[in-house]
Amino acid sequence: MVSSEARKEPAAIVPDTVVMKFGGTSVASPDDLKRAARRIVAARERGQSVVAVLSARGKTTDELVAMAYEISDAPVARELDMLLSTGERQSCALCAMAIADMGYEAISLTGSQAGIVTDSSHTKARILDVQADRIRAALSSGQIVLVAGFQGVSTDSNDVTTLGRGGSDTTAVALAAALGAGVCEIYTDVAGVFTADPRIVPDARKLELLSFEEMLEMSASGAGVLQLRSVEYGRNHDVRIHCRSSFDDAPGTLVLPESETLERPFVTAVTHSENEARVTLAGIADEPGVAGRIFTALADANVDVDMIIQNEPVSTDHGADLSFTIERGDLAAATSALERTDLATPILTDDRIGKVSVIGAGMRSHPGVARDVFNALGELGINIQMISTSPIKISCVIAVDRVADAVRGLHDAFGLDRDEVLAEDPHGSAHHPRVRA
Ligand code: ASP
Ligand code: MG
Repeated sequence: MVSSEARKEPAAIVPDTVVMKFGGTSVASPDDLKRAARRIVAARERGQSVVAVLSARGKTTDELVAMAYEISDAPVARELDMLLSTGERQSCALCAMAIADMGYEAISLTGSQAGIVTDSSHTKARILDVQADRIRAALSSGQIVLVAGFQGVSTDSNDVTTLGRGGSDTTAVALAAALGAGVCEIYTDVAGVFTADPRIVPDARKLELLSFEEMLEMSASGAGVLQLRSVEYGRNHDVRIHCRSSFDDAPGTLVLPESETLERPFVTAVTHSENEARVTLAGIADEPGVAGRIFTALADANVDVDMIIQNEPVSTDHGADLSFTIERGDLAAATSALERTDLATPILTDDRIGKVSVIGAGMRSHPGVARDVFNALGELGINIQMISTSPIKISCVIAVDRVADAVRGLHDAFGLDRDEVLAEDPHGSAHHPRVRA
């Protein structure tokens, strides 16, 4: 599920360089944009070299997507990228104007001008290289550099590419890696990463720190704070990430290498997604090569598969049943890719499913977390349709209309509204204490 970016030797850390990324809500109105500009200037006044990566303002990207679909049912991907990349350019140009008014020199750059080189998979491009010479030159001449997030340029075609929704996070982390910045600061409209979505669980707590592994599982299972690829990139290139509010100075959540996080709780957070769909292939041939053909078709259609379940047929005259989950938005692409294969089998779909996940690096060495998850859901009368686990995560597919109840129930069952429970004694009490003694 989690693939890795190419690993590179980390650039030498240059502590006086900081990369600050501002999300869409942090640059939405003129006042917001000026607040971001003041924060950037304040870092410059402290003597730091500042690179700021900006997202498109407010709902601009959604509006640009909608605009494309007003014109075409299937917008050409190259042109969609050309269109979407304009949102972040607006933010950067406007912010440069605001900074100039504050008496500092700033320069805005497109992803391409900033040296963000990608592959050519339009709308989902991956960063292959960062050629930051122009940024370095601008910084050493005393300029503040504003980089349009979420975009790059394809090595093959020289065309503009975008990095997938939320991709400005990845731009920022990639620049921090290339410049050897001490930290990549992600400024957003929430105070940090929480034990659950505060809109669902009002007493969710802000987490002080997380390991990359935990954050990867959280981003992969629905936490919207950081794009999954940015966390992968940070882990692979040793870039610490600080998620914090752009509206105050309070520290947010630090994402660090596991070796620096010491003991971790059994359960750190509950995440969820209401954005899933399930595909079931009923009675497929029980013979070698079938799964390979199915998932080749899906990979060729650029569909990311999450959970996969297959059982041995109950009897010899019965084929195998295979189910998997994907993002709901990929459902049409997945079914049409499967229809083009030679599988003579019904394709059943369900787009009313959601997923709830419990994550914690401490569960690796502590049995019983799965039992507690299943019991908590059972007590709420929530039926579990599919289960998948990693060493530090347990995910359950459930009906989409029970997701909020499940998140609240699990948050409560693991006492996440209280102080952290550290997994320091894996062979201790049979049932984990809710609060550390
Ligand atoms: N503007 C893009 C989006 O809305 C990229 C980003 O904000 O990170 O997904
Ligand atoms: Mg975002």
